[in-house]
Amino acid sequence: MTSIKPEGTGPLTPGIGEPVVVLKDVNKHFGELHVLRDINLSVAKGEVVVVLGPSGSGKSTLIRTINRLETIDSGSIAVDGKQLPSEGKELAQLRAEVGMVFQSFNLFAHRSILENVTLGPIKVRKAGKADAETQAMKLLKRVGVADQAKKYPAQLSGGQQQRVAIARALAMNPKVMLFDEPTSALDPEMVQEVLDVMINLAGQGMTMIVVTHEMGFARKAANRVVFMSEGQIVEEGDPKTFFTAPKSDRARDFLSKIL
Ligand code: ADP
Ligand code: MG
Repeated sequence: MTSIKPEGTGPLTPGIGEPVVVLKDVNKHFGELHVLRDINLSVAKGEVVVVLGPSGSGKSTLIRTINRLETIDSGSIAVDGKQLPSEGKELAQLRAEVGMVFQSFNLFAHRSILENVTLGPIKVRKAGKADAETQAMKLLKRVGVADQAKKYPAQLSGGQQQRVAIARALAMNPKVMLFDEPTSALDPEMVQEVLDVMINLAGQGMTMIVVTHEMGFARKAANRVVFMSEGQIVEEGDPKTFFTAPKSDRARDFLSKIL
């Protein structure tokens, strides 16, 4: 496999491969608000990118554009070498390549934990029920909630629900996993169990883009930190450099408030 260094990124960790997600000159407005400004970002196979920035800087919008939960006004986004189609069956197929985990777990309330994980593979991937269930049980085991399979989401703790949400996303065998503040809605004692699952996933080579304020996760698992402010990528670099020697005033100001 050839290894191509994504444009504009720092040194790559050995073993990191070709670009999986490539955004070029992406712009987006919400009415008058220019929420994404000339975003260029390339995320390589196996890379873990943590997106940081003040509230309202465009982090959620950025990752939501990657599976077209938001449209863009100009520029291009490719996932696994394919331009993002705007609608239809192609979009559904491409969306299946992109796993997404939200702040609010978004599990199907009236489906069991097991069904939450098997539904996507059965409906979108046309998997057989038995195969989907075998695979789902493996994933639930991997995130440590296999014993909860028959329960319903409301019967689980927030941390357990979020781990199910991760298993559900993984069941589609995605090329990249997007996380939007996955631990922000959790009680403090449940944050680490979710971060541990994410750290494991990163260690197993999953390509991940993670919006989080958990600096411990960024230090431990990120290959690269991307800092956003007012819709722009202001600065990026390896976590150690970013945290100890941020280059921009805006990053220094942000870090002084959160660290
Ligand atoms: P972050 O995730 O960094 O806090 P967001 O991407 O959620 O930032 O939001 C960026 C800006 O876009 C904010 O000013 C927010 O109020 C605005 N915004 C987000 N979603 C919408 C929307 N659907 N309609 C209008 N404005 C929005
Ligand atoms: Mg957000």
